[in-house]
Amino acid sequence: MSTKKDRSRPRKKSGKGNRTCVRCGTHQAIIRSYNLYMCRRCFRETAEKLGFRKYQ
Ligand SMILES: [Zn+2]
Repeated sequence: MSTKKDRSRPRKKSGKGNRTCVRCGTHQAIIRSYNLYMCRRCFRETAEKLGFRKYQ
């Protein structure tokens, strides 16, 4: 948490809590539920394929 900017991002298979989206690689709003490990945006796109439907 000391380095604000990381120049090189080595892709680790298992990070310590710092999950990244398996789809786009972002680390924001990662959904770990259902073993998805995807961000919200990718989740919404993939959710439809997985059968999830957003309820109104
Ligand atoms: Zn994503």
